[in-house]
Amino acid sequence: MSAPRPDVLIAGAGPTGLVLALWLARAGVRPRVIDKAPGPGLASRAMAVQARTLEFYRQLGVADGVVAGGLLMSGARFWDRGRLAALLPLGDIGAGISPFPMVLSYPQDDHERFLIERLCEAGVAVEWNTELVGLRQSADRVHARLRANGVETESEHAYLCGCDGAHSAVRHALGVGFPGAKYDSRFYVADVAGEGWSPGSFVNVSLGRGTICLGFPVRRAGMVRFIGVLPAELAARDDLTFDDVRPISEQLLGLRTTDVNWFSTYSVHHRVAEAFRVGRVFLSGDAGHVHSPAGGQGMNTGIGDAVNLAWKLAAVLRGTAAPAVLDSYEAERQRFARTLVASTDRAFGFLVGGGLRGWLMRRVVMPRVLPLAVKVPAVRRAMFGLISQTRIEYRPSPLSVGGAGRVRAGDRLPWLGEPDNFAPLASRDWQVHVYGEVGTALREVAARAGLEVHRFAWSAACRRVGFARDAIYLVRPDGHVGFAARQTTMAGLTAYLERFGLHG
Ligand SMILES: Cc1cc2nc3c(=O)[nH]c(=O)nc-3n(C[C@H](O)[C@H](O)[C@H](O)COP(=O)(O)OP(=O)(O)OC[C@H]3O[C@@H](n4cnc5c(N)ncnc54)[C@H](O)[C@@H]3O)c2cc1C
Repeated sequence: MSAPRPDVLIAGAGPTGLVLALWLARAGVRPRVIDKAPGPGLASRAMAVQARTLEFYRQLGVADGVVAGGLLMSGARFWDRGRLAALLPLGDIGAGISPFPMVLSYPQDDHERFLIERLCEAGVAVEWNTELVGLRQSADRVHARLRANGVETESEHAYLCGCDGAHSAVRHALGVGFPGAKYDSRFYVADVAGEGWSPGSFVNVSLGRGTICLGFPVRRAGMVRFIGVLPAELAARDDLTFDDVRPISEQLLGLRTTDVNWFSTYSVHHRVAEAFRVGRVFLSGDAGHVHSPAGGQGMNTGIGDAVNLAWKLAAVLRGTAAPAVLDSYEAERQRFARTLVASTDRAFGFLVGGGLRGWLMRRVVMPRVLPLAVKVPAVRRAMFGLISQTRIEYRPSPLSVGGAGRVRAGDRLPWLGEPDNFAPLASRDWQVHVYGEVGTALREVAARAGLEVHRFAWSAACRRVGFARDAIYLVRPDGHVGFAARQTTMAGLTAYLERFGLHG
């Protein structure tokens, strides 16, 4: 007997497409995954794996493997004209906020290979050398035109996800605009060996006039990844080699380069797609948004899109949620992408800006103010929340209703620490959390809907993270609160479950 036809076609097997496929496969939905490349990517590209990504990976049972393969960053070192000016300890910057309180460095090529292996274990093999070249939609199907070995075929599915990167063929076929612009600055990236200092487990940062250079460990072997902004006098040239940027990067970071493994220059755009969904077709990852690399957010945002879309598609295809939940994908992720593009724009402008602002940043803020500020717990929490993506909220989403205590529907469920209220999220099912006592009426409503109820004893920690005692928190499969209210009446919860057709 032949295998059932996959309901979802995923175009693009970068990090976004791979995580989407893995989550779907684990939810019992077998996707078809195609990629026009002959095999997995070979460049290390994105290095930072943020805490929110690791929280999702924990839900998929793969976080330990990713953490074991990567390198925990213990801090940031600021360099001023080749001299070490300040050290910022970051090792546990998110303590009490996330089970993963750190920044992990894990090269994107290793990361992709890891995901491909997990996907194979789940019974899904990526079809390489297979390009999406066109698509059309009918009332209940998407028809994709694929080209492999010079032969075109049509592949028919309930949904298509364009995870095919910044030049997305899916986005072009939909006619969806990608407004934004190119940054004037151009970037360079190099993997080098050097002497003078070891990258250790530090992000090394040095600002120069109109330029910035970051250096961090690539792999455990001691190579250093330089990412920098080309000074204006080099930016227009397209014949650059590492020797052209050697003086500036060595001067900024005080490292003498002995060997160069890889050197490349690239331009960066900041753009957000006008739509993330057209009918039965979705855009995720770089296909939907691109921005400056400041803060290491790009790949993590694609993975966040993938998780957001995967659980919704799986629930609709399995009939455990109404198709209306899919409407929330664009509302939630396009809004986040726009916020991110704006904030990375601002951060980037600050870092490479000229004039007095640039001077203040280079000589005062980075080396002197930041190391002191980060000792203040509220500043540490704010910095971690921003960079780790643990502060992402979907409050205006059509899927967010109510609130209790300081926790509003749409927020990521706050982490308690002890007891570990994230442990039940491994089921990747809708679930009810109560911090305090569970009444009979709530138990009955939850049982009728097939929802697990998880009760945690009320404690000072519950109050500290913002929960209200005895309140109902209906938690989505991705760990965000969908509905929250006091337990006094079940009317709101019942209406919510009915409206979105939710049942376990
Ligand atoms: C030099 C560099 C450094 C970077 N550093 C960072 C960093 O430090 N932190 C960070 O978060 N991000 C970084 N990024 C960005 C990060 O690499 C991307 O955000 C990330 O790869 C996006 O993943 P994706 O899966 O959405 O798209 P991609 O990784 O671009 O994957 C898209 C896939 O789709 C395939 N494809 C394209 N067209 C088709 C088609 N028509 N049919 C079938 N398949 C198709 C491609 O072959 C590719 O495999 C960096 C990028 C670069 C270039």
